[in-house]
Amino acid sequence: MSNKREMAIKRRRRFIILVCLVFLLIVGIIVSIVSCASKKVSKKKTEKKSTTTSSEETVSVSSNEDIISSSSEIISSNESVVASKVESVVASKVKSKVEVTGNQLDKNYQNILLVNEKNPLPESYDNEVSPYLVKIDADLRNNNNNTMIHSGVYPYLSAMVRAAQREGVNLKVLSPYRSYAYQKRLFENQVRSVGGDEAKAATVVARPGTSEHNTGLCVDFNIAEDEFESTPMFTWLSKHGEEYGFILRYPKGKQDITGIVYESWHWRFVGIKVAEKMNDEGICLEEYVNKYAK
Ligand SMILES: [Zn+2]
Repeated sequence: MSNKREMAIKRRRRFIILVCLVFLLIVGIIVSIVSCASKKVSKKKTEKKSTTTSSEETVSVSSNEDIISSSSEIISSNESVVASKVESVVASKVKSKVEVTGNQLDKNYQNILLVNEKNPLPESYDNEVSPYLVKIDADLRNNNNNTMIHSGVYPYLSAMVRAAQREGVNLKVLSPYRSYAYQKRLFENQVRSVGGDEAKAATVVARPGTSEHNTGLCVDFNIAEDEFESTPMFTWLSKHGEEYGFILRYPKGKQDITGIVYESWHWRFVGIKVAEKMNDEGICLEEYVNKYAK
């Protein structure tokens, strides 16, 4: 009787062990199937991703004819090196493009935005420019009233002023951006003070929208007086201004074209390439725009 019972217990044990082994085997098979499937999915994803990247590159390439010809030559060779080679061609083109244009403002020619009596800004320009205005650091300016400048200009302005200061030249921003509304108030006050004669008032204070300061692209430095011409700041700017994209906006001998008398303190950002070209040719912004932007 006891032998039979022992036999029954042994059989039960064997059965349980067998069930456990079968269970483990099934679990093992399931795990291996799942891991294999997930590997396949991730491989497919990677393949898809690399295809997308190279097609994106091709799109950006297609915008430039020079690159198309060079990239098609590359594509005809080994496919596996296409992506990296196209990428390097694009990178070199982008780099040269950045060097040529110089800054974000160039994209819509805002760097050569011409503002004068004949080309006034609309009153709505305040709303257009205000999202782009940034505050000039306190160590770069000598006033606390007008402190804003166009964000596209600021990296160049700050680099220029800091470079001058490092060389012991105490260059400081006196007057950067002024709003249309501010200019309007100034002009209306002037008109009142001369008995309502707008033309007479305009000889002293620019009409609203006709001051370049309404653009946020120019700066008066240190002192807005003729004596600025004989300061080390002016000498430094004359030598290095164009390296940072700034030009003397109202030079001597150009008054009949600019409509503004010589102002040694008023410097306008136009971008490095344009500044160099204007200085090389000895032309003012009106002449540059007339010659190259029409
Ligand atoms: Zn000015």
